[in-house]
Amino acid sequence: MKLDMHFHSNYSPDSITLPKTALKIAKKNGLTLAVTEHNITSSWPVFKKLSKELGVEVIFGEEIKVMEEGKCVGEIVGLFLKEFVKPAPAAEVFEAVHAQAGLAMVVHPFDIFRHDFRNLEQSAKKIDLLEAFNSRTVLDSHNKKAFEFAQKNKLPMTANSDSHSPNEIGMAYSQVEANTLEEARRELIKGHAKLVTRKSPIAVHLTTQLAKMNLIKDE
Ligand SMILES: [Zn+2]
Repeated sequence: MKLDMHFHSNYSPDSITLPKTALKIAKKNGLTLAVTEHNITSSWPVFKKLSKELGVEVIFGEEIKVMEEGKCVGEIVGLFLKEFVKPAPAAEVFEAVHAQAGLAMVVHPFDIFRHDFRNLEQSAKKIDLLEAFNSRTVLDSHNKKAFEFAQKNKLPMTANSDSHSPNEIGMAYSQVEANTLEEARRELIKGHAKLVTRKSPIAVHLTTQLAKMNLIKDE
């Protein structure tokens, strides 16, 4: 199975991808997407319905802000979630994800342009998966640091597109030997994923800015 577990639809204000477009692309390319909007889960019902209609599985998740003293100091993607998790200090986010049997994946932890993770060492024991490659991370050194942190702390790694537009879907993904999502989950936490890593062209960040201003959309 090919899993791209960090993806935003147009329910996230900085993405333009329609849910239907995303799932059609996923189906065509044999990808399983995790829906991980920024601090909301309002796209889940739409994805649930479309996933049935199109016959493609979806992992339900959310990209959750880690907050300290009113500032965002990192982001955690909760995967296999059943309900919304609100932005909170790291310990609380990990607890909320684990309380609903979800997996906590720390994303782009060293990307100083996108909420690098404060005091990551302190959270190491609570991390289920570490995003060692993010297609949207501009500087290779930031991805490299994530990879090295995962290695040093023996954390299972993933690679994801963090897609905000249709062309980015599946730019990076984690491949596991599995037939079901349950098996995939087991393989992931054993650290058995093979990472397929491709960087998105730098222009995707312009797309994000334009999407925020509502200047472009997915047809
Ligand atoms: Zn994201």
